[in-house]
Amino acid sequence: MSGKYGKVYLIGSGPGDPELLTLKARRLIDSAEVIVYDQLPGKAILESMPASAEKIDVGKYAGNHTMTQPEINELLVQKAKTGKMIVRLKGGDPYVFGRGGEEAEVLVAAGIEFEVVPGITSAIAVPAYAGIPVTHRENTSMVTFITGHEDPTKQETGLDWEALAKFGGTLVILMGVKMLGRNAEQLMKHGKDPSTPVAVIERGTRPDQRVTVGTLLNIAELAKERKVKAPAITVVGDVVNLHAILGEQKVETEF
Ligand code: SAH
Repeated sequence: MSGKYGKVYLIGSGPGDPELLTLKARRLIDSAEVIVYDQLPGKAILESMPASAEKIDVGKYAGNHTMTQPEINELLVQKAKTGKMIVRLKGGDPYVFGRGGEEAEVLVAAGIEFEVVPGITSAIAVPAYAGIPVTHRENTSMVTFITGHEDPTKQETGLDWEALAKFGGTLVILMGVKMLGRNAEQLMKHGKDPSTPVAVIERGTRPDQRVTVGTLLNIAELAKERKVKAPAITVVGDVVNLHAILGEQKVETEF
């Protein structure tokens, strides 16, 4: 590893509430010379980036790619070669559907030192703020995290819907807004009860968080009516019923 190269920190920002940033993330962001980011960390955290840092928006957001993944990888390598301290800031946790693993591999291959700073993943924290524990002793002791945005034109989906429909635990679907109807249909087609409770939580842990609750049968229609948009987390399973009991928690702090 060359001493001339800068170090790259792959940092998870958490789901949006700035108080859910780790102390380590905060310290490293504040001392970064270059920050490579996208929009997922959310307004409050992005506005807190230091003025002194060079900030590069690689802007991958809800299908609106402004830079491809290979271009981002190359950018990280090039910036590290200038000897500066680089922060690659990502929403949630960098290794949970965040392509952090791919970026780390590229850095290792280029001989660049890196460190990962795990973040609080939206997959757990967003349901929590909506009053939905992803596991509960009386409902389920299993949970699985899946990506819902498989291309609908693809013949073969990478997801085993049959196994997912049979799985008794909570399903947490990330990136699933566009494919919500298709995903719900797949689960019902493979035998999941249409009355299974479903929640879709948009912009979780942020001041404009919104929760939509329905069932597998009606969730796609409800989401359409309410114009549900990404970023959102979909939770499928009996734990969704706890939303009515535990209630919703919102970020009250003004940032
Ligand atoms: N690494 C991230 C996930 C990246 S994939 C993490 O660990 O959280 C992007 C998806 O994350 C979005 O499509 C959405 O499903 C989810 N997501 C991230 N932040 C969110 C938020 N504040 N509210 C709702 N969903 C969120």
